[in-house]
Amino acid sequence: MNAAAAEALGRVTEVVIVGGGTAGWMTAAALAKVLTPAHTIRLVESDEIGTVGVGEATIPMIKLFNQALDLDENDFIRETKGSFKLGIEFVNWGRLGESYIHGFGKIGQDLGLLPFYQYWLKMLQAGKAGPLDDYSINTLACRHDRFMPARTDRPNSPLADIAYAYHFDAGLYARYLRRYAEARGVRRIEGKVASVEQRAEDGFIDAVVLESGERVAGQLFVDCSGFRGLLIEQTLKTGYIDWTHWLPCDRAVAVQCESKASLTPYTRSTAREAGWQWRIPLQHRVGNGYVFSSAHISEDEATATLLRNLEGQAIVDPRPLRFVTGKRKKFWNRNVVAIGLASGFMEPLESTSIHLIQSAIARLTAFFPHAGFDQADIDEFNAHSDVEFDRIRDFLILHYHATERDDTPFWNHVRTMDVPESLRRKMDLFLSNGRIFRDGSELFAEPSWMQVMFGQRMRPRGYHPLVDVYTEEKIAEYMANVRGVIGKCVQVMPTHAEYIARTCAAP
Ligand code: FAD
Repeated sequence: MNAAAAEALGRVTEVVIVGGGTAGWMTAAALAKVLTPAHTIRLVESDEIGTVGVGEATIPMIKLFNQALDLDENDFIRETKGSFKLGIEFVNWGRLGESYIHGFGKIGQDLGLLPFYQYWLKMLQAGKAGPLDDYSINTLACRHDRFMPARTDRPNSPLADIAYAYHFDAGLYARYLRRYAEARGVRRIEGKVASVEQRAEDGFIDAVVLESGERVAGQLFVDCSGFRGLLIEQTLKTGYIDWTHWLPCDRAVAVQCESKASLTPYTRSTAREAGWQWRIPLQHRVGNGYVFSSAHISEDEATATLLRNLEGQAIVDPRPLRFVTGKRKKFWNRNVVAIGLASGFMEPLESTSIHLIQSAIARLTAFFPHAGFDQADIDEFNAHSDVEFDRIRDFLILHYHATERDDTPFWNHVRTMDVPESLRRKMDLFLSNGRIFRDGSELFAEPSWMQVMFGQRMRPRGYHPLVDVYTEEKIAEYMANVRGVIGKCVQVMPTHAEYIARTCAAP
């Protein structure tokens, strides 16, 4: 069926994406892959406006996105001057002078019906367990700067459990995806959207009109225009739910610097006086930024702190950014789906924004209005998106709230603030007997909650009573074995720098 015939049947065949940042080009590439030749995809972006220019750390699900596009991993890392990420190191979060790692993937090897960490808790309380790091291949590899992908040919080895994501240059990633999308028929239109035409009867968007006068009409519009939310907010006035009272950081200053320290296979987040600083190591440079609360520190002070804490010379001028943590009241409104920063933003503490782009694209694909717009589909899309945002929000709040820091007004504020009931329940449950339950399809699984809760100095009063099915001797022997095997596996892994030099170094 050609496009005209499909349109005559009320089918949606013309997609217009507004915005060409990471969100716009990820959407364009994915839709180009999954839609049929009867669909046209056009992407409008303005070089003059540019992109947000940050967003370089990811979580392991990004691999599924790249695999769905059939991207070759080594080629992708080379093209984006990327590196590998096994987790995040949090420095000074629970207490000044302490650090912990939130490693991706498993902790230990589950025994019977219970997760490994429950046995570890019992032994810890008896003073007979080693540090949690020693029981996670990801975390131990981070501590030794080692990396290799999972060995799927060794199903019984911890080497099969290595879970990883990437750090990459966001500008190069967008360019890489642009080449991919254009090769599959996506048409890019350069220009600034000056006005938007809406249907009188229902407010659906008919077309965007560029400053040049060009009119770009479509049936489905994907708003990837960044914080401004050109269609979802400026045009449709959808509304925004502000979470600043729980996540008070509302600004960032970002800067890139020369690499002087080691190419760590993890992102570092160092808590500062009124927020935190990121370090994202790439092959050719290091990305840094201070995410802060403007109610607690000035932009000048934050910039000075950031520049004082770089490992090498800054190679660009520091760049200020402003945001309001929260989400749109609807992610899909009429014939507009907001993806990326246009849909909401929850600060980059656990590198979840690019993942939210990816999952919104997956959802759009699942609910694509091939046969026209159906409110039941739209409502379901919005309900899924709401839950996803809310659960991630709770996980981020946990990092701030579960702290012993009382050295600045910022930390006193977040430590003593009220938190959402859904998070309070999770914290109380953990504090009693260390139980953690993942809510339905929530993004972060039990090992993530465990590492952050424990890393932030939350200490359960007990442990799961079924642990006592095994004798202490048996548990000690089991744990020693797990620890020994993980330690040996990490020793055979190459360093992160060696692995990149061997397989995917940028020219
Ligand atoms: P943008 O990059 O802002 O792109 C918007 C696009 O819309 C641009 O192409 C622009 O030209 C176009 N546009 C806007 N208005 C018009 C107009 N009138 N006409 C035509 N075109 C227009 N995410 C992570 O996953 N990991 C991280 O480590 C991470 N770190 C971050 C740090 C900070 C401080 C911030 C603020 C965000 C971070 N993010 C991170 C989020 C990440 O940067 C974004 O999710 C990602 O870059 C997607 O942005 P976007 O494409 O939605 O918006």
